[in-house]
Amino acid sequence: MMGQIKEQGQLFYRFRMEDHVPAGHLLRQVDGFLDFSSLRAELAPLYSHTGRPSVDPELMIRMLLIGYLFGIHSYLEDLEAAVANPPPGPRHKPPKYISETDPQAAWSLKDGPGRFSYEVNYLADDKHAIIVDVAATPARLSQEIVAAKEMLDRHVSGFAPSSIAADKSYGTGPFLSWLLERNITPYIPVLDRKAQTDCKMTRDAFTYDPERDVFICPQGHDLPLRSVNAETRVKRYKAKASQCRDCPLRSHCTDAPYRTVIRLMDEEARQIVRDLAKTDAYQAARARPKKVEMLFAHLKRWLKLTRLRLRGLSGANEEFLLAATAQNLKRLVKLSTA
Ligand code: SF4
Repeated sequence: MMGQIKEQGQLFYRFRMEDHVPAGHLLRQVDGFLDFSSLRAELAPLYSHTGRPSVDPELMIRMLLIGYLFGIHSYLEDLEAAVANPPPGPRHKPPKYISETDPQAAWSLKDGPGRFSYEVNYLADDKHAIIVDVAATPARLSQEIVAAKEMLDRHVSGFAPSSIAADKSYGTGPFLSWLLERNITPYIPVLDRKAQTDCKMTRDAFTYDPERDVFICPQGHDLPLRSVNAETRVKRYKAKASQCRDCPLRSHCTDAPYRTVIRLMDEEARQIVRDLAKTDAYQAARARPKKVEMLFAHLKRWLKLTRLRLRGLSGANEEFLLAATAQNLKRLVKLSTA
């Protein structure tokens, strides 16, 4: 059954915790922001109505927070060792680059020698760097956008940001379109892959006619739409071989029988964001995320969260959520005393 400490009082003979925490200590300041009033009611269905009283859940969460606030994680290792109970049965040789102990983790070379990792993704207010949502993902670049969508979707009903700033890895056409469809202004650099032109004329030499959905080449010929790949979201426009065959610009245009120009299905969204990048609002928003980026540096430097103790995506989520809570509490203390 759920245990409850009514009064902490004196834990040991000649030792009172109260006497050993100075008046202005961070823990006392953090305590002012903690509200556990609904905790017991929310957790009640998870406890039996009978049996020995458990550790008070409020005490457990306070202990966890202290661990994250001061980068003390050893008790988690003890806990992990205590609960480690590998299932019996034959062990199969794991495929290459899949962790034997945590198959949901991804092999990453991001921070030096390769290792299996998870990535923490934050949705944070860029003015005060308060974290409003957290998502753990396997450490793969492609998962960053998945996590961003997941967090933004979670907040559409109760908390929908009107704009979002992020680095260039988020600047893909499909994600920019996704944001614009939800009326979220993307202050994100557009991800432009370097064109492979083989020293030929680039697409800039061709004029796009949006009404007819064709490109017009420098010789005035139309390149109509020939194919659309829904998976890669690429549209291909092709000139006629009969027009290219005797064209005086052919050696500068193509080595193929006809010239092909591609356009991404999300080109409109990309152009909207390129235009947005010329505004003062964009420049101001791009300058602010530095505060948010510091949150990731602090995870390692202050919270010493360089290694996860819990396994699986859910374990990573739990640890990142607690770390974010500790970071927010520190931030609130700082803001309240500024
Ligand atoms: S080679 Fe074809 S596409 Fe290129 S400029 Fe000439 S006619 Fe136009």
